[in-house]
Amino acid sequence: MAQFPKLAVFDLDYTLWPFWVDTHVDPPFHKSSDGTIRDRRGQTILLYPEVPEVLERLQIAKVPVAAASRTGEIEGANQLLKLFDLARHFVHREIYPGSKVTHFERLQQKTGVPFSQMIFFDDERRNISDVSQLGVTCIHVQNGMTLQTLTEGLEAFAKTQAGH
Ligand SMILES: [Mg+2]
Repeated sequence: MAQFPKLAVFDLDYTLWPFWVDTHVDPPFHKSSDGTIRDRRGQTILLYPEVPEVLERLQIAKVPVAAASRTGEIEGANQLLKLFDLARHFVHREIYPGSKVTHFERLQQKTGVPFSQMIFFDDERRNISDVSQLGVTCIHVQNGMTLQTLTEGLEAFAKTQAGH
């Protein structure tokens, strides 16, 4: 049986959604009468399409999920997680600027999960590089989070556990 991580951590911008929440869109956000999520100017806001199913799969596998984002638009990011009905998936949200080493040290303290039992998905090389040094299995996301990237990540994690 494949061994799952004890915590899966996701970046937000360009990992769950295709924009920088502090730059390309205009908070606050709202759900319009047609059910779409829009920003203050009425611009439609979308997730990468497979994100809800990625999070459902992890829930079925009983892998807790957390967010680690460096955005300064903390309120807007949390609002989007709520409006897209994703907030219920995230046991912890570390959202503030600075090196993601801080985000992960706090996640480690809050969950008690060792870095070696975490997996991290992010689109930025510098974050992958910083967090890899902690011993977290890091997966570089290209063109947004997909089910295939999840599968590849879980396989990469299982390989790190071989022989343990
Ligand atoms: Mg990003």
